[in-house]
Amino acid sequence: MSYFVSGLWHFAAAMAFAVAFGAWQNGSAFYFLGSPAFTFALMVSSSAFFWVPDRWAKRGLWKFLHYPLPDWDVLLLGPASHRNWLTHSPLLPALLLGALWKWPQLASPLFYQLALGAAIGTGSHLFWDCVGSKRHSIVVVPYWWTLREAASRVYLLLGATLCLTLGGALCGGFETGQTVAVIRWQPLVAFARRALEGL
Ligand SMILES: [Zn+2]
Repeated sequence: MSYFVSGLWHFAAAMAFAVAFGAWQNGSAFYFLGSPAFTFALMVSSSAFFWVPDRWAKRGLWKFLHYPLPDWDVLLLGPASHRNWLTHSPLLPALLLGALWKWPQLASPLFYQLALGAAIGTGSHLFWDCVGSKRHSIVVVPYWWTLREAASRVYLLLGATLCLTLGGALCGGFETGQTVAVIRWQPLVAFARRALEGL
């Protein structure tokens, strides 16, 4: 089955979140998307390069570029493991934040840009898996333990919320690379006020 349509939706969701975060943080829709490192991490974790034609997408290492990181469960564990509970969770952004905590010397604008891209990309992927697909089944152990429809939906939504919250915490370090991750609420309030004034 082609991943193109699903990938396109995931791409659109990732762009929407990236634009919203940019507008929230800096008042500019392309504030984050202007960074190649951010955009690369965003794409790899949300939609990957879904436009790679199918005849190449199935071959060798190409398939790892064709499928986003959360959907590597299919490539590494087989189709029965799709929507694996670990790959469809905030594990990747949490690991990146954990690495920053353990090795503070990693703190640099580049690291923050990659980590922020991965947090927003994974969050948007989980969000769209939750709202955009008909079947919902999180696989804990293939053939043995899968979550039911409603529980899977809640699991994906919680994961998305956590990823995007981690993204919010990482926003502050985007340009400076400072280790202090602060959620900046003032831009959110200013953005909401501007949006309300525009109505
Ligand atoms: Zn997925």
